[in-house]
Amino acid sequence: GSTIGILGGGQLARMLAVAAARLGLKAHVYDPAPAAPAGQVCYRLTTAAFGDTEALVAFANAVDVVTYEFENIPTESLDAVEAIRPIHPNREALRTSQDRLVEKRFLAELGLATAPFAAVDDAATLDAAIAEIGLPAILKTRRMGYDGKGQARLNAPGDAETALQSMNGAPAILEGFVDFSREISVIAARGLDGRVAAFDPGVNEHADGILRRSTVPAPGLPARMRTDAVLLAGRILNALDYVGVMGVELFVTPGELIVNEIAPRVHNSGHWTQNGCAVDQFEQHVRAVAGWPLGDGGRHSNVVMENLIGDDMDRVPDLARDPACAIHLYGKAETRPGRKMGHVNRVTPRAD
Ligand code: ATP
Ligand code: MG
Ligand code: MG
Repeated sequence: GSTIGILGGGQLARMLAVAAARLGLKAHVYDPAPAAPAGQVCYRLTTAAFGDTEALVAFANAVDVVTYEFENIPTESLDAVEAIRPIHPNREALRTSQDRLVEKRFLAELGLATAPFAAVDDAATLDAAIAEIGLPAILKTRRMGYDGKGQARLNAPGDAETALQSMNGAPAILEGFVDFSREISVIAARGLDGRVAAFDPGVNEHADGILRRSTVPAPGLPARMRTDAVLLAGRILNALDYVGVMGVELFVTPGELIVNEIAPRVHNSGHWTQNGCAVDQFEQHVRAVAGWPLGDGGRHSNVVMENLIGDDMDRVPDLARDPACAIHLYGKAETRPGRKMGHVNRVTPRAD
């Protein structure tokens, strides 16, 4: 197709729209906010609510294929779209990753290691989950959480009541606390032809629940784990008959890699690919959903990606003086604490 429909108009959609334009394709973005970051760079912006079926039908009719930049789209909204145009990644991938419980069951069924988990709906199921999993543990809302929001740490049985209250009655999942040495992620893609291409795993550092920095190659990550990470990502993509780019977050423990969560979209920890690879994650995703062959994921440079969050924007003039720094800003009108405003990729020649 020559017009890609993108649901959601944040920075991920913005960078997808730019990648689409570079391939000679048009990006039609759907986002309720007229000032959405992607609106400034796309071919067309529809500003209607995600629940507006009439607008969704018109949007679907105006594009050749539909993709999305966030996983919390109401699934009912997609029924109307799917009746008209293909959606990549598919509904099953979206359904699986929208709900942490469904996601963990899917991963466990594939034979992949996850944190021990149990469903929690009330005080009784929480007590049972604690008895089964032990403490420390983390209680998370099953749906809608991001940047560590909707999570509560339980260190002692006395923490249970407050943790449960913080869920505000939403269905939750208790996860055993994983004693990891670090967090890595794999960004992988699968094409319409079923071919899989993965980028090198990077190490991710968080602050206040928000991704701060990704470093590629992952310093000191054993070659065996690099391979394992890429292979398990491929198994996830194949099992879902997936088309597009996926982010797979992993915990590194002495014995094995534990899957934390999957994101059915381009991923913040893959932004390094913009300056480390011939074909970056955004072009890769557009290629996949448009039915093009994929790039191979090869890395020509080492990259440290740093997010610019809130007041980090004040550092941009200084960063711009560093010739090894590629700067990517999202055009958000308002700086707010905790808001992702942009990122920088510090590039050095590949050494390994
Ligand atoms: P994202 O913004 O990546 O979507 P999220 O809100 O979906 O984040 P998670 O990735 O599940 O949340 O958790 C956020 C962070 O909390 C993880 O990156 C990790 O540092 C920590 N964490 C989550 N689950 C566990 C666990 N079971 N054991 C130890 N640490 C955990
Ligand atoms: Mg998440
Ligand atoms: Mg996460």
